[in-house]
Amino acid sequence: MKTYPNHSEGYPTFIVWEGEAYCPDCANKFAEEENEKEDITEEERIFSRPSDAGISQAINWEVQDLHCSGGFAGCPEWIEPAYSDND
Ligand SMILES: [Zn+2]
Repeated sequence: MKTYPNHSEGYPTFIVWEGEAYCPDCANKFAEEENEKEDITEEERIFSRPSDAGISQAINWEVQDLHCSGGFAGCPEWIEPAYSDND
């Protein structure tokens, strides 16, 4: 089950944590990894307890050069905006 959907109401989303932007793919990967670790404390759980950890998910309306800080293999890196400059 995905913690963070890639789209909200059809628009591309991204995740913000401590001033950094992450794509939903990376955030889900981090959450998955945390869930696989049985010996970490609640405080060490960041992406797997989004409501307490200060993480917010938002729609990228029109930031054209928003990049993910996650760095996971297979990460798209660029977070697509709902509206491009060319529209
Ligand atoms: Zn990413």
